[in-house]
Amino acid sequence: MFIFQILKKFAAIILIICLLLDYPIALGSFISDTFGAGENEGLSAGSPWIDSDLPENVTAFSESDPREDYHLYAGKDILLQKKYLEGYSIWNYYSDASSLVSDRAMKLLAEQKQTGHNAELLYDTYDLLIDWDTRNSNGMGEIKRLTDPVLNADSLDELTDYLLTEEALVFLVNFISLSVDISINDSTHYAVYLDPEDLLLDDAAEYSSRTELGDMTAAYNEKMFVYLAGRLGIGESEARDMLEQARDLEEKMSLKLSTAEEMMRDDYIETANNEMSFKELEKLSVNFPLADIVEASGLKYDGKYIVSDQDYLEYLNEIYTDENLEAIKSIVYINALIDLAAYADREAYDFETDTTNECYDSSYWYTDEENAYYTVKELLCEPLQELYVEEYGVDEDRKEMEELCLGVIECYREMLSENEWASQETIDYAIKKLDSIRLCVAYPDKWTDYSDLSVKGCSLLEAIEKITMFYQRMDCARLGGEVDNECWAAETDVLDCNAYYSNSENTIFICLGMMEEPFYYKDMSTEELYASVAGFWVGHEISHCFDSNGARYDAEGNLRDWWSKEDKAEFRRRIDKLDDYLDTIVPFEGYHVNGKSVDTEMLADITGLQCALRMAKKEKDFDYDEFFRKYSVLNLVISNYSSELEELLQDQHPLGYLRTNVVVQQFDEYYETYDVKEGDNMYLAPEDRIKVW
Ligand SMILES: [Zn+2]
Repeated sequence: MFIFQILKKFAAIILIICLLLDYPIALGSFISDTFGAGENEGLSAGSPWIDSDLPENVTAFSESDPREDYHLYAGKDILLQKKYLEGYSIWNYYSDASSLVSDRAMKLLAEQKQTGHNAELLYDTYDLLIDWDTRNSNGMGEIKRLTDPVLNADSLDELTDYLLTEEALVFLVNFISLSVDISINDSTHYAVYLDPEDLLLDDAAEYSSRTELGDMTAAYNEKMFVYLAGRLGIGESEARDMLEQARDLEEKMSLKLSTAEEMMRDDYIETANNEMSFKELEKLSVNFPLADIVEASGLKYDGKYIVSDQDYLEYLNEIYTDENLEAIKSIVYINALIDLAAYADREAYDFETDTTNECYDSSYWYTDEENAYYTVKELLCEPLQELYVEEYGVDEDRKEMEELCLGVIECYREMLSENEWASQETIDYAIKKLDSIRLCVAYPDKWTDYSDLSVKGCSLLEAIEKITMFYQRMDCARLGGEVDNECWAAETDVLDCNAYYSNSENTIFICLGMMEEPFYYKDMSTEELYASVAGFWVGHEISHCFDSNGARYDAEGNLRDWWSKEDKAEFRRRIDKLDDYLDTIVPFEGYHVNGKSVDTEMLADITGLQCALRMAKKEKDFDYDEFFRKYSVLNLVISNYSSELEELLQDQHPLGYLRTNVVVQQFDEYYETYDVKEGDNMYLAPEDRIKVW
């Protein structure tokens, strides 16, 4: 299903693009207005610190001491003051900076003053989304037209024929997910990635060991599907039968799939790196039409397919039979209705919002303009960026940011040169890799040409189909050819407040949305600049070259071991020490941190701060208190419980309060600044501290 590969662009873990943050923003809620209502009311068990990302854990009475809980000490006043933006479930400074950029971009779409092909393309798509009269008069009609052939298929052959049509390939699930990206084994060429499609409960582990998050998702799916099926004339008991059939088959499939936890481990990429030829895919297509789907998607070529889960593909042959026809139809149909509800009429759209809020205990709500903007941004990310840059321009900041990045890289060079545990050979290669980093700041130098794409005269779903097919043609054209580094991936969202490191390109992307307050502004003090750019941000991203994941890639971005056996063992020992420590941390009752899931991001945080402190040493009269406070404040998060749980269970980034506390407690400068001693809650004995680089 191509369309949702665009909309969920960061879902595929195999692409290994490391984000500075990856907070879900689709679920929203307001903070309750009950701050300070009672002494320590709602405090949940947490060790060694309470989870101060949860608003119920922070009141005016919460104790804040730099030696006990540094994150709460530095951020308590702000946590008590800030609230979610209307309609969101999370507040952090990323959301503040993002909204600055999105307000400007939304204005461009609403005012429609710019001219040219891309502007027209954006306005036409925006108008289709915001035109509720037409959407209401179409009702569920387009969705019915797309999904009726699934319901009416009397045999597996009939269903397969339909799944191989263009519109089905765009909008419906077919058990596999295809994407084109730079090859992890040859970074000069593109490859086709072949992954399992997401299950209805997202994480395969939810089918054998259900969490609260799985319960929320199951309740959401059930409510949405019963309602949407009802709108298409299917009675509640029939809808529930379909849900049960789908769940039973997915339960069997889940046993063959990697869990979210397994996919977050740093060695997952090696398990998932199985190169196959089209001929080999054909051999795998006994009952399941794998080769036919690849060919119908225009992705048959002489090169390699990188298959993450061969066992799963083999298993599809066992279950893709006429005996399971009804269950297979149910999976396709349920996914289609739930995924497409957002493009139907007002009633379906509102029902989806209400159901999200009810099931995830949030108050997510977008204005029509916001909803249209976010969808346009997902569908036509690059043309929107081009329009934005044309209007607001950031060239001056861009040059300054490039220079700052080079300064941080220079500091890493010193840090690596002085390393005491790795062999000279390993260090020399690490420096070579460092020097090969490509910096992509603010926006690409070359934009993709969209002049072949127009959505004039289309209905909303027709427009989405045309846009999706445009990307598909672009992907097909890339196969076999060399990678063009001047163009950034079409889904790189530079309007986002974020930064990324791409292993397969050895490249850092600094999005222009990140070049806003409080992350970057003209009159920053040296302390603020080092805490933010050198430590929190650019330093963090550079560290991804050498974290437990990035260290598996060479200077050209290929998955290739460049370590001596001894150095690798020592590196692993240091990461294991970090994992063991993280495993002891309990954010709230019933859940502990999984070190192996978050160690790459935690190591990036620790090494980033290490770099910033190294830069600080060269400054006269450096104010460490100001530095640590700034660093801590940038990590502030206010999150509702379901988002926090999702972050803990399914995200490679540690929770916000841990990104301060675990990080600062590794450094002497923190102990000296706040006179932290043995017995204090923030204290770690020198021999227990983590120092990887
Ligand atoms: Zn990161």
